[in-house]
Amino acid sequence: MKLHEYQAKELLRNYDTHVSRGIVAFSPEEAVKAFRELGCPRAVLKAQILAGGRGKAGGIKEINSPEEARTSAKRLLGSRLVTAQTTPEGEEVRAVLIQEAIDIQKEMYISFWVDRGGATPLLMGCPEGGVEIEVVARRSPEQIFREPFDILFGLHQFQARRMASALGLDGPLVREAVSLFRNLSRAFIENDLSLLEINPLAVSRDGALSIIDAKVDLDDNATFRHPEITAGKCPSEETLEAKASALGLSYIGLDGDIGCLVNGAGLAMATMDIIRHHGGRPANFLDVGGDASAEKVTQAFKILFEDTRLRAVLVNIFGGIVKCDMIAEAIISALKDTKLKVPLVVRLEGTNAHIARKMLAKSGLKVVFTEGMEEAAKRVLEATKQNTHF
Ligand code: GDP
Ligand code: MG
Repeated sequence: MKLHEYQAKELLRNYDTHVSRGIVAFSPEEAVKAFRELGCPRAVLKAQILAGGRGKAGGIKEINSPEEARTSAKRLLGSRLVTAQTTPEGEEVRAVLIQEAIDIQKEMYISFWVDRGGATPLLMGCPEGGVEIEVVARRSPEQIFREPFDILFGLHQFQARRMASALGLDGPLVREAVSLFRNLSRAFIENDLSLLEINPLAVSRDGALSIIDAKVDLDDNATFRHPEITAGKCPSEETLEAKASALGLSYIGLDGDIGCLVNGAGLAMATMDIIRHHGGRPANFLDVGGDASAEKVTQAFKILFEDTRLRAVLVNIFGGIVKCDMIAEAIISALKDTKLKVPLVVRLEGTNAHIARKMLAKSGLKVVFTEGMEEAAKRVLEATKQNTHF
């Protein structure tokens, strides 16, 4: 679960970190009030979306007066911001963060994440910040420094010190960085984060460290342990993942164009594998569960169709506990209100599959029936090639 920058910063403030002062606003009036409350001559107004790259996309504005706060907030709130990290449709801006502007002398990058290969949490740093880290990693991999650390002991002082020096810090800034990195590592572990990225971490002109931007991702399997972070804090956009999770569905968006609706996580994984094997790209992982109800499957379809990148949909159901006729009923019901704009390829096997086929055939929906996974994957791929619009 991703947090907005302002929520991430709220979390980090509890850890004696160097977060610059800021106030979130949901309307131009609130933005004006926030600017006045900050009482600083110069502030930065930042669009709150769950993606980076806002600076380059016009989502970050310098403001010098209450009037500028109003104008910038008015322009951004309600608009869709398209950045290098969003879909082409962008993300709606529902909140802006008004933050005290920092006079920046140097920008660095640090992040905490879990290195699956090494089975360890890790602090990664780069003396060059404010830019896309992937670009630096490709151009100058020697500029990327890593400190794997123990989950129980946390980041040791010597490790934090080594990172500070790798980032080119010296003098009193080293001590400041050591305490900052260790506090951040505590925030990372105590909140079950899967990512904590500070880009940029800045040295200000007056020689202090400052967290300019913060990206936080909570491990979805541990959100129940942190109701204080997750509960009602997000009046902003609902991701498809969040909507699905509220309905008890497992949905994970991917970057392809073939929508998948499957029952059972194993079958869902196998479905994605076989699509990839034949050269296609799944748009999502969606497991409706082994005991899905018609209503749940109808909702699942609706979520699936919210993804505007789809060029075809593959329904792959093995009817064990789930009866195929119930799935057919759900497909028909979901498509009653939503016009199907992409080809629908269906593989139904198991309990009541023959009834399901009859129901779908009679429904007037344009459905491609297939036998077996191999054929299903091939047919859905053909379908995407024929269908270029949604
Ligand atoms: P992102 O583009 O979505 O990653 O948003 P960031 O918060 O990282 O801001 C992008 C860039 O805007 C930063 O790398 C800075 O160069 C600049 N920026 C953001 N806040 C400030 C600030 O308070 N002072 C100055 N001088 N620059 C800022
Ligand atoms: Mg950033």
